[in-house]
Amino acid sequence: MEFKLEGIRRILETKGLDALLITNAQNRQYISNFVGTAGTLLITQREALLATDFRYVEQASKQTSGFEIIRSNGWDWLPQAASKLSLKTIGFESTDLSVHSFEKVKDSLLQIKSNPGPLLVPTVDIVETLRTIKAGEEISALQRSIDISDQAMDSVCPTIHAGLTEREVAWRMEKAMREYGADSKSFDTIVARGPNSAMPHHRASDDIIQLGDPVVIDMGALRDGYCSDITRTIFVGDPDDKFKQIYDLVLSAQLTAIETMQPGMTGQTGDSLARTVLTEAGYGDYFGHSLGHGIGLDVHELPRLSPNSQDVISENMVFSVEPGIYISGWGGVRIEDLVILTKDGAKQLSKAKK
Ligand code: ZN
Ligand code: ZN
Repeated sequence: MEFKLEGIRRILETKGLDALLITNAQNRQYISNFVGTAGTLLITQREALLATDFRYVEQASKQTSGFEIIRSNGWDWLPQAASKLSLKTIGFESTDLSVHSFEKVKDSLLQIKSNPGPLLVPTVDIVETLRTIKAGEEISALQRSIDISDQAMDSVCPTIHAGLTEREVAWRMEKAMREYGADSKSFDTIVARGPNSAMPHHRASDDIIQLGDPVVIDMGALRDGYCSDITRTIFVGDPDDKFKQIYDLVLSAQLTAIETMQPGMTGQTGDSLARTVLTEAGYGDYFGHSLGHGIGLDVHELPRLSPNSQDVISENMVFSVEPGIYISGWGGVRIEDLVILTKDGAKQLSKAKK
């Protein structure tokens, strides 16, 4: 925990902020270990406070260490804490705090007698940047979640046949993930048959799977707060030449990227490793989304691997590698695995059959 607080404190210093107010639920869990659904952290160079309401006070003191737990009612605790700690500037998470809550925070600080009260400063991605580098226990939590979606994929794929609806396949996958130990799913399962598979984010519907369909399945498990995310494309019946050709191309784009990725590259370079393979085969225009995204407590995190990403990929980052080809009217193929970047390159964490 201590290295996470040190990380925030370093950033506060470079930004000239006295404190950071953390309202984002995943950031709160990451920094404090507290998994309740309500609570706010206030981090300064010396203190770490966790304010939560009556329901969670006991849980918070058990789950955290080194945090002062404050029983709160809305923002009533903040002016007192800010005066006691003589805060002049408080950073807040501008991508999380709603306008409504921001007004309440501002109003609460007006109660401070000393004039002027602390200044509220918008910040972006402070904790999110720290979260890109996974520590040991996070990597094992991610691997548990990944193993669950692998097992579900490998056990359910062979049972898929013509006549099932997309929704039925989604339910089989979700049930299997729960049976293998998931707390929940990490996002709504995508099952896309035939022409539906040309839409990267098609939702599972009552459409019936037919013989001769490609079927794209994109799903993930949630276990102990950590997400997995995997995509497989299968073919119902004997695959025709077109499917084989497109499948092999997407797979070779994916494997090329996994085999050649190195720490220190930008997300843009990482993305181009796969995109070049598809472009050279004449399918560049059919790959309209980015190659990958970080994953952890959220299913989509930093870094971004996309044509315009300047994020630098580094050792111990975990992210997806998911190229695809989508042809309107025909269908699509996407293959997605999660990898961890080591000093020697990317190592695949998901292992379901391709
Ligand atoms: Zn996915
Ligand atoms: Zn993904």
